[in-house]
Amino acid sequence: MSLINLLDLLPSELETLAESLGGPRYRGRQLASWIYAKGVTDIRAMSDLPREFRETLAARAEVGVPELERRTPSQDGSQKLVFRYRDGARVQSVLMPDDDRLTLCLSTQVGCGFSCAFCFTGTMGLERNLGAGEIIGQVLGARATLAPGARITHVVYMGMGEPLANYAATVKSIKLLTDPQALGFSPRRITVSTVGLVSGIEKLAKENLRVNLAISLHATSNEIRDRIMPVNKGFAIGGAPAACKRFPLPFRQRMTFEYVLLEGVNDAPEDARRLVRLLKGIRAKINLIPFNDWEGSEFSRPPLPRILAFQSVLLEHGIRATVRWSKGEDIGAACGQLREAVTV
Ligand code: SAH
Repeated sequence: MSLINLLDLLPSELETLAESLGGPRYRGRQLASWIYAKGVTDIRAMSDLPREFRETLAARAEVGVPELERRTPSQDGSQKLVFRYRDGARVQSVLMPDDDRLTLCLSTQVGCGFSCAFCFTGTMGLERNLGAGEIIGQVLGARATLAPGARITHVVYMGMGEPLANYAATVKSIKLLTDPQALGFSPRRITVSTVGLVSGIEKLAKENLRVNLAISLHATSNEIRDRIMPVNKGFAIGGAPAACKRFPLPFRQRMTFEYVLLEGVNDAPEDARRLVRLLKGIRAKINLIPFNDWEGSEFSRPPLPRILAFQSVLLEHGIRATVRWSKGEDIGAACGQLREAVTV
């Protein structure tokens, strides 16, 4: 019989589990506090729980933190973490310090099935979804590597995989991140990034989780988007921006649109002007991501003046646009560079 991963359960569900094992409900709250506040993963070491309860629980459940197989520091201070799950599947997470922030970039799937032409993860195909507990396991695993006093302040769902294609696990992991008895993050500090699955965006809107949303737009015409993002064939380009207008954001926040700049493909001033028109009426900000290269890719990064010219068009139209120089490029941890051998 496989063990229950306690990281799959919300604190309220830990209470129900405790009850089903013959204990009072508050044992569930004690469990949550051991796991999330104290960072203890060995059930037998949870010393204020009765010995018998610990034994019964340990026979059925575990705190499933994946093994940290590799940790690669970058020149810029970010770190790539490679986690390995029980079945041998591996994912990467990235820790990125920036001034007083420490952002953790999470993976939601082993590989990705969307095959965006410019993305290295896309060349892996989709191996499998991660469970909520496996996603949260990356947070606990990353937290365990931090120096005393250091704290993860922000979480972005921008690692391997498409969060909204693994909907239930993504939503549950967000609930675990934000539950005050679990990880206790403010939803304002969490960003979910998507290729633009309209039905997923609409479903997520109804959950009212108040997290930030980022849309990987990357093109302004169906012709170009169809070519670089096969997912676009199922959607007209305006679909995602339209769904965004109805998305309940945290107070005063803006919707983020990511736009990877590919030389000669989507980087002309005319593309920038079309982008302005496409986002009309949306409280948007745009992250321009100069393409990060990987071996075998058919794209290249536009020269700096071209990147800045693109940004200028947006700024002239009053749109907030920043150029995001990805972190961890030297260690293959930048946007779109995450790829890992799948099994042992
Ligand atoms: N599947 C989700 C989550 C991944 S986020 C999504 O697509 O939004 C990773 C971001 O990096 C996405 O915006 C992705 O399009 C972008 N990206 C992928 N490959 C890249 C590359 N080679 N250079 C720069 N950005 C890239």
